[in-house]
Amino acid sequence: MDISFLLALEGKVPTSVSKLLGLEQRHPWCASCCDFPDEETEAKRQLKVTCPEAPERLRSQLSHPASAQVGKDSFGNDYIENLKQNDISTEFAYQTQDAATGTASIIVNNEGQNIIIIVAGANLLLNTEDLREAAKAISRAKVMICQLEITPETSLEALTIAHNSGVKTVFNPAPAIANLDPRFYTLSDVFCCNETEAEILTGLTVSSPADAGKAAQVLLERGCKVVIVTLGAEGCVMLSQTEPVPKHIPTEKVKAVDTTGAGDSFVGALAFYLAYYPNLSLEEMLKRANFIAAVSVQAAGTQSSYPYKKDLPLDLF
Ligand code: ADP
Repeated sequence: MDISFLLALEGKVPTSVSKLLGLEQRHPWCASCCDFPDEETEAKRQLKVTCPEAPERLRSQLSHPASAQVGKDSFGNDYIENLKQNDISTEFAYQTQDAATGTASIIVNNEGQNIIIIVAGANLLLNTEDLREAAKAISRAKVMICQLEITPETSLEALTIAHNSGVKTVFNPAPAIANLDPRFYTLSDVFCCNETEAEILTGLTVSSPADAGKAAQVLLERGCKVVIVTLGAEGCVMLSQTEPVPKHIPTEKVKAVDTTGAGDSFVGALAFYLAYYPNLSLEEMLKRANFIAAVSVQAAGTQSSYPYKKDLPLDLF
């Protein structure tokens, strides 16, 4: 389970905050995979450059454009290089002088659970104008993933462009905000959240698949076509306008080393199947996304824990 806090700092990270987050102590880092090199700190604290707008999460041979704002700093330079290394187009990845690249401090406990403090930085400067420049590329995509590490207005604009062009939209309300604009529900083909996010959005307690089903029903009524609630080692629960009875999709529980980014791994894998295997049933897509996310929690780090397609069993493809 990820618990994220978003610090909405648009400018440079103040010294007090950077000290709090350990930003000063953590150089140099390996930003090409957004995680520190192998060295493990006593507090198992990691600093990563936040992924500005979820690019392809399953590390496969895709080349989607990522619309992003990073700072004109070494994190930003490394991040652009990271996108290139992963064959992700940087045509719409902008570098700004006006804010530092978004960063996050992640604390992982011995059970692999984490707490994340996000300093959004340049992420908050990605605006609707930037997106309109990318509108053509968005309208040619098969699937668009949005979340809330950029401003809600920008995410809404991206979802609107995609929705109006017939592109499948996947929305992951992370980090969750209680009063989510109702358009997020109607613009989402797939609304995918974790237990904490489901609780914040619905006010219901979510601690079992049955609870998740009830929360998912509330979210479905707000206008989504499909709602998925991820449940860590319990897999996920799905329901849709066409099949409104909640269905639990269990998974094989694994011993987690680091659950950071499990939800992103799950969402990325799901987007991959929606784009490339659209004829699979949703249930089958979710079984496979469960499997891929389970692989990711068995390795340390965030992006570095995502498996390459070549390292996954052939029967997933
Ligand atoms: P988030 O990272 O957003 O908090 P979850 O903790 O719900 O998301 O995890 C997302 C997905 O990762 C789950 O639906 C499941 O497929 C997989 N997962 C997470 N932890 C485990 C685990 N210990 N064993 C197996 N799968 C897991």
